[in-house]
Amino acid sequence: MSTKPYCRDWKPRRNRGIYCSPACGGGCTHREFTDATRRAAKLAARLGDGWKPRVWENLGWHYTVELGDAKRGGISIHEGANGYWYLMGDAPSCGIPAWSHPTDREFRDPKDAVRYALRRAAKDVARQQATVDLVTAGCWHFL
Ligand SMILES: [Zn+2]
Repeated sequence: MSTKPYCRDWKPRRNRGIYCSPACGGGCTHREFTDATRRAAKLAARLGDGWKPRVWENLGWHYTVELGDAKRGGISIHEGANGYWYLMGDAPSCGIPAWSHPTDREFRDPKDAVRYALRRAAKDVARQQATVDLVTAGCWHFL
């Protein structure tokens, strides 16, 4: 049984080509970090005003760009193996945001991922509005 406390030190340290935190311990490289940072800035610029890059470490350096808080009603765009995908909508506790389909589709153009997210969300909102309309019409006498 290990007596080592859970390491929460996520501050990365540079040691030659390595740029990795004690909590990660994955031997992440500074090149991965600079590449993720550069790609995030480039993607944020491609999407326009309001998009913010976010870079993090967890057994490698990763990035996303966000418009608002992706887990509280915003959207984030991620680069996958075959293109860009999204997370969008509110997330219950630590779950996946409501209108997210991360394994659904990836798009060559990140703007297509945003367009697809909006179409999926609009369909879902329309279905939910239909339910609200139905219940409102059936229960108007005690609402
Ligand atoms: Zn690391």
